[in-house]
Amino acid sequence: MADPRGFLKVREREVPAYRPVPVRLRDWKEVRDELGRDEVVLKRQAGRCMDCGIPFCHQGCPLGNLIPEWNDLMWRGQDADALDRLHATNNFPEFTGRICPAPCETSCVLGINQPAVTIKNVEVEIIDRGFEAGRVTPHIAQRHTGRTVAVVGSGPAGLAAAQQLTRAGHTVAVYERSDRIGGLLRYGVPDFKMEKHHIDRRVAQMEREGTRFRTGIEIGKDLTWEDLRARYDAVLIATGAPVERDLPIPGRDLDGVHFAMSYLEQGNRAAAGEDIPGQLTAEGKHVIVIGGGDTGSDCIGTALRQGAASVTTLAIGKKPPVDRPGNQPWPTDPRVFEVSSSHEEGGTREYLASTVEFVGDESGHVRSLRVAVTQYNPDGSRTPTPGTERDIPADLVLIAMGFTGPEVTSLAAQSQVALTARRHIERTDDYATTHDGVFVAGDAGRGASLVVWAIAEGRAAAAAIDEYLSGSTELPAPVTAHQVALRA
Ligand SMILES: Cc1cc2nc3c(=O)[nH]c(=O)nc-3n(C[C@H](O)[C@H](O)[C@H](O)COP(=O)(O)OP(=O)(O)OC[C@H]3O[C@@H](n4cnc5c(N)ncnc54)[C@H](O)[C@@H]3O)c2cc1C
Ligand code: SF4
Repeated sequence: MADPRGFLKVREREVPAYRPVPVRLRDWKEVRDELGRDEVVLKRQAGRCMDCGIPFCHQGCPLGNLIPEWNDLMWRGQDADALDRLHATNNFPEFTGRICPAPCETSCVLGINQPAVTIKNVEVEIIDRGFEAGRVTPHIAQRHTGRTVAVVGSGPAGLAAAQQLTRAGHTVAVYERSDRIGGLLRYGVPDFKMEKHHIDRRVAQMEREGTRFRTGIEIGKDLTWEDLRARYDAVLIATGAPVERDLPIPGRDLDGVHFAMSYLEQGNRAAAGEDIPGQLTAEGKHVIVIGGGDTGSDCIGTALRQGAASVTTLAIGKKPPVDRPGNQPWPTDPRVFEVSSSHEEGGTREYLASTVEFVGDESGHVRSLRVAVTQYNPDGSRTPTPGTERDIPADLVLIAMGFTGPEVTSLAAQSQVALTARRHIERTDDYATTHDGVFVAGDAGRGASLVVWAIAEGRAAAAAIDEYLSGSTELPAPVTAHQVALRA
């Protein structure tokens, strides 16, 4: 156990401050302040971990991270051992340590009557120190099985599966239709949340371990799903859930109304130094973001850095409570009012705002948004309240209302992978689809979710594939698809 009296001596949470807002708005670098990293504070926080008999944080973390063990090791200054314990359950703690919403912390036992241990911050420190000390090295498989696996999609699910399977001795090729590896980590999540060199560093490690990467190849178009299956002993679909939820109301086709992802992708490419002719930018514009989730929050931070005149986020529902509501008790992960780094930076948030129309000018460009107050009906549906309409000026509207699921047209046409009534990919408890040797993990299997779940599913699917190919497996499987469904 870390300090036996730690949680009694230190009752407050201490995390490094972000860089000041006026400073960080001038660049695309991570908001996290490197200067705020402090050895004493880190040990003090790790020392608050009580090593509970039943560590609920294990259950809160989809990866089952061994949190009390690495808190104890960090408190004792055994950084290398802490890194080993962290890597035992998580291939990419530098991703989760930066952008995971940390459901582990909402289930920390200390959280019952005082602020939770700063688990996520300890995690990111362990891995950052590991890289700085040169301790993150390739793990080369001792033997090769002669079996081949194609992983389609290079987001966190595909990368985690590919790393596990390569280390188990299989020959793994990752196919990615985009020009760069990383999935939404590359072209969705902006640099101010996670800089891209973290992905490049991992990809370099994976290449040295033997994983092969094939960018610019779209399965279903450049190579059919059938041909891919014929070429490899197993296939993993890790293509994400990129179909964006639309808002088909009058004026949807006006200029200036866009899906958030096309805007964020261009922003990420520009931040990476690419020249984007006619880039969609918020500079000098009144921006409205429809949707209050992660994607919407990333649009806010991006628009503010581009010099937007104003940024307003509209959410159709009620403002969530600041504190954990009674019907979502500890150790559940409650739905509460969140203040992301982008929210701290500016913009306004409006709730109970139902968009009824995009209003355009004579040139066909959006001029304003007509919104009404959301009304909750007895059957649970939500509709605009008649007579409450008002117009909000808008030059750029970003639709960030979530994602409806995976793209499945070519998959359905070219393989025997069955779909559910909602056009999601049917899968068993072992991540297998109805097509022999074809598996599915990450957002493509569970619907749009989180990086930590994508890694957890990638690891578990890798274990299922290893077993399919070898008859047994020693790869750890953090969650079955059934457990995923129960916890979703
Ligand atoms: C803007 C935004 C911000 C987010 N922020 C956070 C956050 O802060 N914290 C968090 O935990 N989660 C966040 N998420 C969610 C998280 O990014 C996803 O849950 C996660 O990336 C899913 O991983 P994945 O590997 O399943 O799929 P993805 O990351 O979507 O990767 C799928 C990959 O497959 C490729 N692909 C698709 N079809 C094909 C094909 N036919 N052939 C070849 N390649 C193909 C795609 O190009 C893509 O690279 C965010 C999501 C968005 C959109
Ligand atoms: S991956 Fe997320 S849930 Fe798991 S320990 Fe890290 S911050 Fe917590």
